[in-house]
Amino acid sequence: MAAQPISPTSQRHRVVVIGSGFGGLFGTKALRRADVDVTMVAKTTHHLFQPLLYQVATGILSQGEIAPPTREILSGQKNAQVLLGEVTDIDLEARTVTSQVLGRSTVTPYDSLIVAAGAGQSYFGNDHFSEFAPGMKSIDDALELRGRIFGAFEMAEIGATRGENVDHLLTFVVVGAGPTGVEMAGQIAELAHRTLKKDFRAINSRHARVVLVDAAPQVLPPFGKKLGEKAKGELEKLGVEVVLGAMVTDVDERGIEMKFKDGSVERIDSVTKIWAAGVQANPLGRTLSDQTGAPLDRAGRIAVNPDLTLPGYPEVFVVGDMIALDNLPGVAQVAIQGAKYAAKEIDNRLSSKPSQGPFRYFDKGSMAIISRFRAVALIGSLRLTGVVAWLMWLALHLIYITGFKNRVTALLHWFVSFIGRGRSERTTTEQQIFARSALGRLKRGAADLVSDPGIYDAARSVLETTRRAELEAQAEEEARLTDAGQRGVPAEQRA
Ligand SMILES: Cc1cc2nc3c(=O)[nH]c(=O)nc-3n(C[C@H](O)[C@H](O)[C@H](O)COP(=O)(O)OP(=O)(O)OC[C@H]3O[C@@H](n4cnc5c(N)ncnc54)[C@H](O)[C@@H]3O)c2cc1C
Repeated sequence: MAAQPISPTSQRHRVVVIGSGFGGLFGTKALRRADVDVTMVAKTTHHLFQPLLYQVATGILSQGEIAPPTREILSGQKNAQVLLGEVTDIDLEARTVTSQVLGRSTVTPYDSLIVAAGAGQSYFGNDHFSEFAPGMKSIDDALELRGRIFGAFEMAEIGATRGENVDHLLTFVVVGAGPTGVEMAGQIAELAHRTLKKDFRAINSRHARVVLVDAAPQVLPPFGKKLGEKAKGELEKLGVEVVLGAMVTDVDERGIEMKFKDGSVERIDSVTKIWAAGVQANPLGRTLSDQTGAPLDRAGRIAVNPDLTLPGYPEVFVVGDMIALDNLPGVAQVAIQGAKYAAKEIDNRLSSKPSQGPFRYFDKGSMAIISRFRAVALIGSLRLTGVVAWLMWLALHLIYITGFKNRVTALLHWFVSFIGRGRSERTTTEQQIFARSALGRLKRGAADLVSDPGIYDAARSVLETTRRAELEAQAEEEARLTDAGQRGVPAEQRA
C-alpha cells in the first residue's frame, strides 16, 4: 500500500515527536511557545503514567486515571497535532517518519525529530514465556493481569466447591524484584489478605501464596543493600515469599521452573504469573543504529552524543528509555528532562541562541511502595522508609498524575483502598484476559479484522449492485403474481 505523505500545513519548522509517553508528552509541551509545528506520532491515543500500572492491575485505579487522552491534554496547544500510528520506519536521509495503523500507512516529513518510543518487556530471549506470564508495560497488560488475578480467585472458588485442589490457582508468582515486581507482589498480598477476605465462601483468600522471584541476590538492587533488606523484611511481614538467586528457566500454563546457583531446580505450580523482570529498548533503536552506525547495548539502547543527538544527524534527538548515555537509569525523569532539553535545543537553534552544552541529568531520587503506609525512598544520600517514604510517594505521584480530575479521583480511590479495604476497580471481562492471545494468532493482528483501504467500498459497491438486481427481480415477481391472480394457486394449475 502506497504511503500517503502529510502535506505540511505551513512553512514553519516541522518537529515530529515519536511517542506519547513521558519523553513524547513533555517534549511536545516544552515546544508550545516555539515557532514550530509539532506532530506527535504515537501508537496509543493516551499518555500512560507507567509507574501506577500495577494499581490498575490490582483494582485500585481505573485505566482512565493513569492514561488520559493525549489529544485532550494537547487540545490547548495550537502548534501541536496528534497522529495515531505505530512508527515502522525512520528515513534519516529523506527526513521522514512512516507510521501504520490498521493497514493504513502515513509518511510524515520533519525538520527536527525527537524519538521517545520507550522500551518494552524483555523475556531474555524466551519470548514464549509471555503467553503465560504477561508483562507490565501497557494498559492492555494491566487489564489482562487484573482479569487473570481476580479470575484466579473465581476459578479457585469453583474448584473448591467441587472439592478439587486449588493451590495452583491461589499461588501468584511475580518474576523480577525491581520496583514494579515489589509493588505488584505487595499489592496482590494486600488484595488476598485484606480486600477479598470476606468475599468468598469455599476458599479462604488469606491462604493465597504470593511468591516474588529474582535471580539477583537482593530485592531493589538500585536502592542499595540497606533499603533492599528493609523492603524484603516488609514484604515478608505482608506474607510475600521472597525467593532470591533463582533464575526462571521455564514458564508454562500451570507454573514456573527455576534454577538455583547450586544447580538445583524447583517448580512452583501457579496459574497466575507476572513478568516484571527485564526491559528491551524499542526496536526503532535498531533502525537508527543501522543508518548511523551508533552502537546498541545489550538492552537495545542506542548510544547518543552528549547532546542526545545521533552521530551525523544533529536534527535527530533520542530521549528516555531508548538511550545509552553515562549509565542513565530507565526512569521517568531521564525521559522528561531529556525531552525538555531537546525541545529547548531546537528552539535555541531557531532563535540563533547558543547551545545549552551537554545534557545534564538531575537525579531527584527513587521510590517504591511496598504496601499501604510502607515505602522506601532514596533521595541523594538520604534513605527513607515506612510512613514518611509512603507519604512522599503519595504526594509525588499525585503531582505527576496528568489532569486535575484524575488527581481528585485517584486520591479518592487511594482513600478507599488504603484507609478502607475496598478496591473500586474490580471489573474484569473475558476479552480482557484472552484478547491478546487471540490477536496474536492473527497474521497482522487487528489489521486482519478490518478491510484494507478501499476494499470495503469496492466490496460494498459490488454487493449493492447484486442486491439491487435481486430486489428488483423480487418486486417484479411479487407484482406479477398479484396482477395475474396467481397467489394461493398451486404451481401446476397456473396458466
Ligand atoms: C510498570 C512500570 C513502573 C515504573 N515505575 C517507575 C517509577 O516508579 N519511577 C520512575 O521514574 N520510572 C518508572 N518506570 C519507568 C518509566 O515509566 C520510564 O522510564 C519512562 O516511561 C520512559 O519514558 P519514555 O518517554 O522513554 O518512554 P514511554 O513513557 O514508555 O513512552 C513511549 C511511547 O512511545 C510509544 N511508542 C512505542 N513504540 C512506538 C512506535 N513504534 N511508534 C509510535 N509510538 C510508539 C508508546 O506508545 C509510548 O507512548 C516504570 C515503568 C514501568 C513499565
